[in-house]
Amino acid sequence: MKIGSMFKEIVVSFFSPPVTENYPFEKPKTANRFRGKLAFNSSKCTGCNLCSKDCPANAIEIIIIDRAAKRFVARYNVDRCIYCAQCIQSCKFKCLDLSKDDWELAALQKGHFEVNYGKEEDIVTLLERFAQPKNEPG
Ligand code: SF4
Ligand code: SF4
Repeated sequence: MKIGSMFKEIVVSFFSPPVTENYPFEKPKTANRFRGKLAFNSSKCTGCNLCSKDCPANAIEIIIIDRAAKRFVARYNVDRCIYCAQCIQSCKFKCLDLSKDDWELAALQKGHFEVNYGKEEDIVTLLERFAQPKNEPG
């Protein structure tokens, strides 16, 4: 590099703002089509399970609490998801989306990677169901 062009680079850099991002104190803006954590709208869900059948990573499961009453919970495994958006393509009712703002997904506890989506009372019913001891065959 010639000394003249090097000097120009030095002057330009000296008067330019730093390119280093101040994360985590300032969250960088994500692109409009950025794929972050999955979001689920249970009010539109029909329980057809297409999203779950088509997921290549086995990351989403739709649990039917009461089909007639349209009560569904989506169990999402964040650590298995590969953000392919296949479930969004498969859902005919636009219940699913990948958030562009929710992307800070690191956690120290494995339990944080299992998320239940749905109405609060449906999630409570589901958790109570799992907490009940299974009847052992006598
Ligand atoms: S984005 Fe892909 S991997 Fe993640 S839940 Fe949907 S289909 Fe499965
Ligand atoms: S594909 Fe859509 S409507 Fe069908 S179970 Fe999944 S989220 Fe619900």
